Amino acid sequence: MKKIRYNSFIAKLLWSEYNTITLAAWVCTKYKNKEEMPQRIRNHECTHARQWVECMLSSGVVIWALVLFAGISALWFALSFISFYILYVLEWLLKIPFYGKNAYENISFEREAYACENDNNYIENGDYFEWIRYILR
Ligand SMILES: [Zn+2]
Repeated sequence: MKKIRYNSFIAKLLWSEYNTITLAAWVCTKYKNKEEMPQRIRNHECTHARQWVECMLSSGVVIWALVLFAGISALWFALSFISFYILYVLEWLLKIPFYGKNAYENISFEREAYACENDNNYIENGDYFEWIRYILR
C-alpha cells in the first residue's frame, strides 16, 4: 500500500485551504499526482507519517510490557494507534499558555516537520524520534 494517496477522497473532505492530511502512516492529498504535489509538502507530511509509526511502535512496546508484567488488558493496544494524536493534542494544549495562537507551529512534531521540509533526504537520513529534541526548543 502506497504511503501517499493522490487525488484522495478523504483529502477532498477537508475545507478548501488545506490540500493534504496525514492519517496514521498515510498521506491523503488533493494533488492529482507526484508531479503536481510540491516536494516540500511531501517531505513535511511523510515526516508526520514516520512520527506516527514511531509513536505507535514505541507505545506498543510499553503496552506490551504492561500486558505481560502488570496484567493489563490487551485492549490497551488500541491506544498505540492513536498515541501520536494523544501526544500531539496534549502538547498543543500545554503550549497554548506559552505560544497562544502559535501553539500549533510549536508542537514538537510540527517543529521537526517544518525544520526539515526543505531537506529532500531527511526521511532517508534523519534520526528516529528526532521530534523529541524539538519539545523544548
Ligand atoms: Zn505538519
